Amino acid sequence: MTNEELWESVLAQIQLNISSANFATWFKGTKITSQENNQVIIYAPNSFAKEWLEQKYNKIIFKILHGLDGGIKDVKYFVEKQNLKTKTLKGGAVSATEEDQLDFQELRVDRETNLNPRYTFENFVVGSFNELAHAAAQALVKNPGFIYNPLFVYGGVGLGKTHLLEAVGNEALKNFSKKKVKYVPSEKFTREVVASIRNQEMESFKSKYQEVDVLIIDDVQFLAGKEKTQEEFFHTFNALYEKNKQIILSSDGPPKAIPSLTERLRSRFEGGMIADISLPDFETRVVILKTKAKEKGFDFPEEVYGFIASTIKRNIRELEGALNRLVVYQKINNRTPDLEVAKTLLKKITIGAGRQITPKKVILAVADFYDLREKDLIAHSRKKEVVKPRQIAMYILREELKGSYPFIGSKFGGKDHTTVIHSCEKVARELGGDKGLEEEIELIKQRIYNS
Ligand code: ADP
Ligand code: MG
Repeated sequence: MTNEELWESVLAQIQLNISSANFATWFKGTKITSQENNQVIIYAPNSFAKEWLEQKYNKIIFKILHGLDGGIKDVKYFVEKQNLKTKTLKGGAVSATEEDQLDFQELRVDRETNLNPRYTFENFVVGSFNELAHAAAQALVKNPGFIYNPLFVYGGVGLGKTHLLEAVGNEALKNFSKKKVKYVPSEKFTREVVASIRNQEMESFKSKYQEVDVLIIDDVQFLAGKEKTQEEFFHTFNALYEKNKQIILSSDGPPKAIPSLTERLRSRFEGGMIADISLPDFETRVVILKTKAKEKGFDFPEEVYGFIASTIKRNIRELEGALNRLVVYQKINNRTPDLEVAKTLLKKITIGAGRQITPKKVILAVADFYDLREKDLIAHSRKKEVVKPRQIAMYILREELKGSYPFIGSKFGGKDHTTVIHSCEKVARELGGDKGLEEEIELIKQRIYNS
């Protein structure tokens, strides 16, 4: 058999096993270029497809190849050379090479500290909108517990509170490896309080928190109305404060704007340094876009950055979302998006958001993307191949459809809302450190909105 014939037989079989959308996305333009020493070399038209063939389809590709020719022992994947060059931009800017991207290490949230190593001071862009909060954070991290206590950072959604708080945590660990740092979203704190009361483990809960040197509680606005949690937090706060342990808090507004917060807790929150993060101006938004693009190993034309920065003004997370769309476009098409392309891609965000998408559509798109059946996704299987896609489906339902947790649970054969919360949080946390996951979700969303 020639290489072409061999590959055609493989493709014919694969086509029977995977969804047509996946076949088109991952196998279009692939070929076997050579066979040497029992090794088959497969070329993909872009890096994205290569990664997927390697990570997701290698098993089935190998099985079929081996079935066709028992001598085949190994498969290797490459991106076609001519396509790598497209990353050299006009104006001489050269983005990172393929190798650089592959060297990018997946960063994982640390189990002990719950910190995401991706959030550092190095990749935190400072402008007048956040400079006070940044300066306070930097001063504090040199001498935790003795400068401002607590540090209370507030600002709107997606403007960098979590990033800054986690950067403090990561930096504190770097400077003082013996110190115990703990990052906790306030909802998690609440759940722990509730569970500890239920299981009568209040003592171990208390001692766990009281041995922390730097305690970071994110989004304390969610403590609103939760009296028992507030009470526990008040005790934790005092115990740490008396021992000169650092406490860092974030919220969507200043302490006085948090409704039904007990007076004594409010005055604690106001007792240290309060710093706000406002909106970045146009120039800063451009710098943020460039920084993020560089981190991902890409560079886009100046006018594309300008266009995104002038379209998205109020949320850095959305800036990143737009950038991600361009990254996926470039990876799939091997072409740097120009201004026109950028405009169409961004239009899809705005139009897509208004369009009617249903839970069913989301679930089908996710199942299809992972070559699963809808009923596998909905059923109670705990198999790894199913668990992750299911969590992603729940996450998308939450993010895109704004479904309530019980509602989402009901779409998955009546799963408990706590399972849904756990799933959504898990995906959200992993998204922070795993750019492959970001792109996967981006692709799924594109299928949802474009179908
Ligand atoms: P918040 O907690 O305020 O909702 P996040 O900290 O989650 O916002 O930030 C949203 C996204 O924007 C994150 O991916 C973060 O890395 C990024 N981001 C926010 N502020 C900055 C900044 N000053 N420099 C670089 N990236 C930022
Ligand atoms: Mg946050």
